[in-house]
Order: sequence, then C-alpha cells, then structure tokens
Amino acid sequence: MYDHELTLGGRAAFQYDLLRLVKRKELPIGDFPAFLFFNPGRVHSVMADVSDETLAHRQCFLCPEGLEDKQQTFLWDPTMHEGTPRYAIRVNPFPIFAPHFTISTVRHEPQQIRGHYEDMLRFTTELPEYTIFYNGARCGASAPDHMHFQAIPMNSLPMQVYVDQHGRLPEFCPSARWIQSNSIEDMTTRFFALVDEFARKQQQPTCPQAMPPRPDDADFNIISWYNGHYNTVILFRRQSRPACFFAENPEERILISPGAVEMCGVAIVSTEDSFQRLTANKLQAIINEVSITV
Ligand SMILES: [Zn+2]
Repeated sequence: MYDHELTLGGRAAFQYDLLRLVKRKELPIGDFPAFLFFNPGRVHSVMADVSDETLAHRQCFLCPEGLEDKQQTFLWDPTMHEGTPRYAIRVNPFPIFAPHFTISTVRHEPQQIRGHYEDMLRFTTELPEYTIFYNGARCGASAPDHMHFQAIPMNSLPMQVYVDQHGRLPEFCPSARWIQSNSIEDMTTRFFALVDEFARKQQQPTCPQAMPPRPDDADFNIISWYNGHYNTVILFRRQSRPACFFAENPEERILISPGAVEMCGVAIVSTEDSFQRLTANKLQAIINEVSITV
C-alpha cells in the first residue's frame, strides 16, 4: 500500500521525498540515545491549533470526505470476526518515519483509549515489524476529534530500543511506566490501573498558556510493541506544550509540541532556529516539564 501510494505522485510522494532532507542530530542524555530531527514538513503538526473552535470549523482529515484524491485506504479489523472492519489504515501524509501509517476508526469518534487499547495490542501482533503509538487528545494528537493510532517501523524510538535492550525504563521520562505480559487481558487490567492511579495526580501547568488539567481523565502518550510479549510504555503528562513554546523573546522560543515520539526520545522541530537551540539538557528539561512529577 505504501509503495503503491508513493507511485501515484500525490502529497505523500512529495512529503516522503522531503524526509530525505531531514537533518538529524544526536542528543545523548546519560545512556539514553535521544535524537533531534529538523523536519520542515511537520510544521503543521508542530503548530497545530487543536482548540475546540478550530476543530468545529474544519473538515476532519481522517474521514473519507477530508481525504486527498490520491490517498489510499485499507479497511481492516484486528478481531476479524465482526462483519464490518472498524479501522482504516492509511499512509500518513505528514511522516516522521518511512513508512508511517495512521490507523483510525472508521467511525468519527473522539480520541479516547478506552474501548481501543485491546485493539492497539492486537495491532502489535498483526503488524509485528511496527511500533504502534497513541497520542492523547491533548498530548500531541493533531486530530483529537477522531480516534487514531499511528504505526512506525520497530526500533525507530530510542525508548522502545532501550527497554528491549536493558529490560528497564531509562530515566529520560520521569512519569513513564512499562508493562509487559503474554495476555491482552492482563495488559488491559494493568494499563487501566495505571491510568486510574495517575488520573489522581493532576498537576498545575508551568505556564499560563498551557491547558489546565482535566479533572475527569489523565493525559498521556502510549507506545506498544510485540517482542514475544506484549509491551506498553505509557507516559503521563502534565501539559501539552512547554513554556519555551510560548516564550515572548524569540531568542528563547523553541517550537516543539511533544507527542509520543518526542516523549520516547525523538524530538522534532520544524524551524532551523529551534534545531540550533535545542540541546540535550534543554530537551531533558522540556520532557520533565511536560511530564507529571512523581
Ligand atoms: Zn473524522
């Protein structure tokens, strides 16, 4: 599907071509090998305005009416026994990695992990070469009004590689939690126990422009993969963007909107200034700032 769509010469072909121009820099933090990507093609995602008002006035790009004419859709369901597939897999038109897919529900429904976490785990065995990730509605999702996961090649994220190699979490993200099991049922029980535990640890944001905690739910990013066992790392969030995103002094401004990819060690900026300014220490400070302190 990926190869086919790229031959059609549409937006995806253009954007994946741009990926070759992405500048990379290593930002090692202790024994954790974080990276920085300068990817101008991601500017819309980094700067995305996902306020309720904006969402109410735009065509959803994960619904059929919002697709570009060359975008392909593969309908699929990991449980298979139900009559109508519940998910649509598409090439992500604004990629970070190649290939990079979106997996969205066929139905237009809000970004919400409840009722979908088991499917996320099922996708890890259906797509064993991929890491599946989920951005909470206020934690980097650019379509918080339409439920979706994303799939990227396994070993793209330093967090996943580190956990596989060391059998423990790095110190990089203080509110990360890792669960591993052979059973989807066991994973689900432990996953929602963690979500409930962290929902009680809401903290005030560090800058006034950040969205305040939501009393009814926890904010988080999730990555899941399969390595003979099911694995999930869940990264609990205090706020969506760091104070430096809103800095009045342009010299201090770093345009970064952390989602699962950033929380797992790949920082993406879409301006040259931010690329020059973001050091390993600064990245660590940003991750600490947007994470819940435990
Ligand atoms: Zn939609």
